[in-house]
Amino acid sequence: MAEQQEERKVVMVRYGELFLKSDPVKYHFIGILLRNIRWALETAGHSSSIRSPRGRIFVSGEKPEEIAAIIARVFGVVDVSICTLVEASPDALRDAAVALARSHLHPPCRFAVRAKRQTKTGMNSQQLGEHIGSAVYDAIPGLSVDLTHPEYELFAEVRDCGGLVYDKRIPAPGGLPWGSQGKVLSLLSSGIDSPVASWLAMKRGCEVAHLHMDGGRWAGADVRETAIENHRRLSLWCPGADLKMIVADAEPFYDRMQELRVPARLRCVLCKRFMLRVAGTLAGPEGAQAVLTGENLGQVASQTLANLAVIADATTVPVLRPLITYDKGETVTLARKIGTFMEKQGDLACRAVPRMPATAATREAVAESEAELGIDELLGTVLSRVTYITARNGKIL
Ligand code: ATP
Ligand code: MG
Repeated sequence: MAEQQEERKVVMVRYGELFLKSDPVKYHFIGILLRNIRWALETAGHSSSIRSPRGRIFVSGEKPEEIAAIIARVFGVVDVSICTLVEASPDALRDAAVALARSHLHPPCRFAVRAKRQTKTGMNSQQLGEHIGSAVYDAIPGLSVDLTHPEYELFAEVRDCGGLVYDKRIPAPGGLPWGSQGKVLSLLSSGIDSPVASWLAMKRGCEVAHLHMDGGRWAGADVRETAIENHRRLSLWCPGADLKMIVADAEPFYDRMQELRVPARLRCVLCKRFMLRVAGTLAGPEGAQAVLTGENLGQVASQTLANLAVIADATTVPVLRPLITYDKGETVTLARKIGTFMEKQGDLACRAVPRMPATAATREAVAESEAELGIDELLGTVLSRVTYITARNGKIL
């Protein structure tokens, strides 16, 4: 009888791509994923118990809705379900399914039961689905069964750990566990693109450190604070871990470009090359194996294919550009979803941008200007003027 059964809720966590790995790699990655889930829950003040039997992770604790919402932001997780955990018998599953349907399924409604068994004894999956489906149908008048286009789905699973019943799969970001793919140094600006690029690298398992080039009087009044705000918001995606930001005072670089009157049209390419030079130099000491930018093909004059090729030459460290093929609209949609989009944009203008930036700077012209600027000396100057900002769990420390 349903009333006599002790009903327990458990959060079931599915991870996707890790299944493709060999066993030792898979267990290594699952270990990192479990650590990240634990950190995320601890950060939010939840004490919970976590188990990882074959192919799934189960988390139990108080407030399963909150636990599920927290885990639905952990990279490497594909989706999350809040399940009723019962004894693995057809009748216990049936009673739990009827109870869940009574509270969530409102007639008239087309519904389906999807049953699955990890343990292949007793009823087969189809029989189990029918057993549960007919009980739900009888218990709630006004329903119809539709296995192809249901409006409501009930899932029942027989697993080693017991019987599970649920009716929602809360989508999570997917990707790979944060910290499983090494580290990148990400050039973070006050814009929309670079925070999304950082997030995509985190989603793909990379630990990230940020580098912001502070243009001083050459940057709009709100650039620095907005970049720091981007950094703060991104720290919400690696709960329990410190997110480091290096702020390099790059004002001398822009001063020198003006002082020496290098061709104005080259400024954007020179600027981006200088950023990569600084990032490429700092990457090693930061333990980063690549530099990351929010650059995108054709978005602005400095991002033509010809210019991107000349820009990439500035460092021997690999440069990753996760947004290279994105349309602006796609990036904005993602920025809103991950919480880095800011409705109110302050003064983010760059005062060094020329009226007519070169769309195809040549290596020769760039080399000439850099020799004139004394680029190595400038690099030394800027590297000696860095400060550090750490963010953790959405707070600047
Ligand atoms: P975004 O492209 O992030 O929206 P943006 O439009 O200000 O910012 P772009 O001129 O498009 O910047 O620069 C391309 C990339 O160069 C950025 O995505 C970012 O990775 C990097 N970048 C630009 N400005 C800075 C800066 N001040 N500090 C660090 N990186 C920067
Ligand atoms: Mg941009």
